[in-house]
Amino acid sequence: MKFGCHVSIRDGYLGAAQYATKIGAKAYQYFPKNPRSLSIKDFDRSDAKECKNYCQDKQLVSISHSPYPTSLVPTTDKKKKQVVESLLNDLHISDSCGSIGVVVHFGKHIDAQDPLASYQIMIQTLNTVLGQWNGDCKILLENNAGKPGTIGTTLEELVQVRKLSNYPEKIGFCFDTCHAFASGLWNGNNWQGVVHNGEALGYFDHLQAIHLNNSKYPTASGKDRHANIFHHGHISKEQWQDLMEYFMVKKIPMIMETPNHQEITHQRELAELHKTWPEG
Ligand SMILES: [Zn+2]
Repeated sequence: MKFGCHVSIRDGYLGAAQYATKIGAKAYQYFPKNPRSLSIKDFDRSDAKECKNYCQDKQLVSISHSPYPTSLVPTTDKKKKQVVESLLNDLHISDSCGSIGVVVHFGKHIDAQDPLASYQIMIQTLNTVLGQWNGDCKILLENNAGKPGTIGTTLEELVQVRKLSNYPEKIGFCFDTCHAFASGLWNGNNWQGVVHNGEALGYFDHLQAIHLNNSKYPTASGKDRHANIFHHGHISKEQWQDLMEYFMVKKIPMIMETPNHQEITHQRELAELHKTWPEG
């Protein structure tokens, strides 16, 4: 099993990969640059190259996460230009580090009167970015938290946006378990239904990564608050079981974005995960 967690690039890209190995992760996620800004980063190419070599050597899988202000539904032309340039920068950095994809949140609603306009803007933004991108690293669309019925909370929307873009082969998916639970997509007891629907849609064929997070709030609450896997969350060990069995067979990397604090560190959570679901 490729269990992992989000790590800091405080000590560079190679440093992040080495730290992941040190705490027992076999996969990891990082921010390619400052997560609060769309500013372009002139990154250290040799550090990125060393990171890529290290990960190949250790069979470590990585994904990156685009900065928080990255909206696939930008409201002005100026904002769109910023988002496009920033995403191309994220793709360059992540490709240089050997990552399989850059996670981007599905867009949020901008016009309640005309929801289709949001999907159209999203597809145009993806087309503009991917028309200029020829690397191996993909864009990984992530499902939103949000009350049932809000944009980006269903597998249908994710699959359709990918299909309607000009470059579906450059787009994959990242399934966030907390978001799925918060939105009611997965309520903890309907996993077989999610699988049935996802397989019929072809969603799982393009699933590249899992964001493995418990939820501080009950299902369908619409609240995006991550909890530790075995502690303080509403998803029980029994409910995790179905999902784990499915992803174990598929060998999809599962990366935590859980609170990393003194009593429950990522290192401890990784040990608990490996103990509960040993490899092979
Ligand atoms: Zn996530």
